[in-house]
Amino acid sequence: MEILFCGVCHSDVHTVRNEWLGTTYPCVPGHEIIGRVTRVGNQVRNFKEGEIVGAGCLVDSCRTCASCKVDLEQFCEAGAIFTYNSPDKHSGGITYGGYSDSIVVDEAFVLAVPQNLDPAAAAPLLCAGITTYSPLKHHKVTKGQKVGVVGLGGLGHMGVKLAKAFGAHVVVFTTSLNKVEDALRLGADEVVHSKDEAAMKRHLNSCHFILDTVAAKHDLNAYLVMLRRDGTLTQVGVPSEPLAVDVSNLIFGRRNLSGSLIGGLKETQEMLIFCGQHNVTADIELIPIQQINAAYDRLVKSDVKYRFVIDMASLKQAS
Ligand code: NAP
Ligand code: ZN
Ligand code: ZN
Repeated sequence: MEILFCGVCHSDVHTVRNEWLGTTYPCVPGHEIIGRVTRVGNQVRNFKEGEIVGAGCLVDSCRTCASCKVDLEQFCEAGAIFTYNSPDKHSGGITYGGYSDSIVVDEAFVLAVPQNLDPAAAAPLLCAGITTYSPLKHHKVTKGQKVGVVGLGGLGHMGVKLAKAFGAHVVVFTTSLNKVEDALRLGADEVVHSKDEAAMKRHLNSCHFILDTVAAKHDLNAYLVMLRRDGTLTQVGVPSEPLAVDVSNLIFGRRNLSGSLIGGLKETQEMLIFCGQHNVTADIELIPIQQINAAYDRLVKSDVKYRFVIDMASLKQAS
């Protein structure tokens, strides 16, 4: 496919800067890909030339293990093949992602994109969308429940939109006072500045579910105590340092702490259809690829509104 747009995930920054260790250079990041099919193999049945399609965080898996068999390719026991920085079993070396003019993807890992969605604003659904949709689904968030979203960045703002679409009462916890108005506009029912102790206290023991999207070291305990009995906090942000947990916050209230990793292909397709039906896309800042380093610096400073997306036409203009 010819790549038209690629979202900029904080995981790209972690990887490019080797914050999780294990980056193989040269590295071409990008796993929120929207493109146009330019050619199909002769066995391809589901896609045809000219179609606008998506590719997300995964490009392959073993397809036979216990996880693959139940559509959880992200947990493939032979090792999921991620869109970038994974061993490439076809061409050797490693996989290269979406900050590029083209990519070849097996049709089993290609997604149909609802035509009513703006393709640039739909790109972030391929990672930020599925990463927030999957835990909301898995933990059965339903209408009327109180859901906390910690961190209003790329993942966080999708979490707000999707939790609202699920019918939840959404409370955003942010470190950035200047995001309060945006959080309400994005659909939050309440916004809490996490440095305001009195405001934080008002939410103790009240949330059914909390989605923590924070990309840096922070105090998990401040959020565990917001959960009501049997509530769950799911961590999706991946700080490069371990986070300390006061286990009494889990023991009292029988609270749960869990994690979640993107989503399998079937669920990603389901999420795209859901977003098509509810008209959900990301709020984006479209940038030329020449501005990627400045975008990374802004991401690290939590200055994102609310996902950078690279307009790949800028690559052609440069060459
Ligand atoms: P992002 O756009 O940079 O958003 C992260 C938000 O976290 C920031 O906007 C900020 O929100 C908050 N934050 C940042 N530093 C903080 C700090 N020191 N203390 C408290 N809050 C802080 O990043 P993203 O693309 O949404 O990704 C978030 C994390 O999820 C990254 O670690 C990424 O690697 C990870 N991720 C995981 C998965 C998965 O499958 N589990 C998938 C994709 C990404 P406020 O300004 O509102 O405080
Ligand atoms: Zn991502
Ligand atoms: Zn497998």
